[in-house]
Amino acid sequence: MKLRFRYAAAALALLSAEASAQEQPLTMKCESSPLMNAFTVFSETGRMPPDLIKYLGDGPWHKIEPYKAFDNVYYVGICWVSAWLITSPNGHVLIDTLYGPYTSQMLGNIRALGFDPKDIKLVVVTHGHFDHAGGISQLRSELAPGTRFAMTEEGWREGAEESVSHPRFPWKMIEPDIVLSDGQTVTGGDVAIQAFETPGHTMGTASFAFDARDGVRTYRAFTVGGLGLNRIRGPEQVEAFIASLKRIRVLTQDGARPVELHLTTHGFSTGLTEAKELLKTRQPGDPHPLVDLPGFRKQLDELQAGAEKRLDAERHKKAN
Ligand SMILES: [Zn+2]
Repeated sequence: MKLRFRYAAAALALLSAEASAQEQPLTMKCESSPLMNAFTVFSETGRMPPDLIKYLGDGPWHKIEPYKAFDNVYYVGICWVSAWLITSPNGHVLIDTLYGPYTSQMLGNIRALGFDPKDIKLVVVTHGHFDHAGGISQLRSELAPGTRFAMTEEGWREGAEESVSHPRFPWKMIEPDIVLSDGQTVTGGDVAIQAFETPGHTMGTASFAFDARDGVRTYRAFTVGGLGLNRIRGPEQVEAFIASLKRIRVLTQDGARPVELHLTTHGFSTGLTEAKELLKTRQPGDPHPLVDLPGFRKQLDELQAGAEKRLDAERHKKAN
């Protein structure tokens, strides 16, 4: 009896191992909508769907071809996490580091586009989660010795905390270098990048504004540092997120250089993966397919509406 039970347990374990091995990753071709749907479920329920868990594991489906998005801005990330290289003749700026084996893949992407990673003068990191900051120590050792790294004060702190506590993707953090303050402009080569403290996704999240050139036109591009509410520690964090979204919306309306487009940290969130295909067939005089200010404002509105719902839930949780 005992033996039969043990066999049954072993058979069950085998079955479930097989089931998870057979679970297909969400998409092999990097389509935006299955990824967006799965992350929305995760954001709303706090539970990760099994096919998303499988997707986030290592696999060839993460690789996408790097591409030139603007005359001076290149996509060098993987399917589900962006890394943006902003170039100048005197050196480049990199936004975010990727993680695990994908940091090396990113360096390969940079070389494939004809740039030398050793010409990166500055790496700005949106926040301390593994997918954006996990490659920071590898970059510190592989980029040129004088390369600077920048995060907000809280970003440096949360990166150090996350690096040792992440259950699935532990990584190595570096000592704080440049500490970004709100509104500060930092430079690498001839690239100027303005940092904004936009707490919410994490409390140390930074967003960045910079120029993206397209022929004779120069656009003000913006990277929102954190998009989802997947690790919320209470209503105050959601309130901060909503305030940040409102502020970013104002940046698209006011000031000497209003923001004109969003270059996202996660391509599926804006349909970037599909929009960038239009670059290949774009004719002279055609509008730039990644310049979509109404789309950016709509995204901000949708994020805010979702966050307001979540705020009710978090307040309710706290009251009970
Ligand atoms: Zn994050």
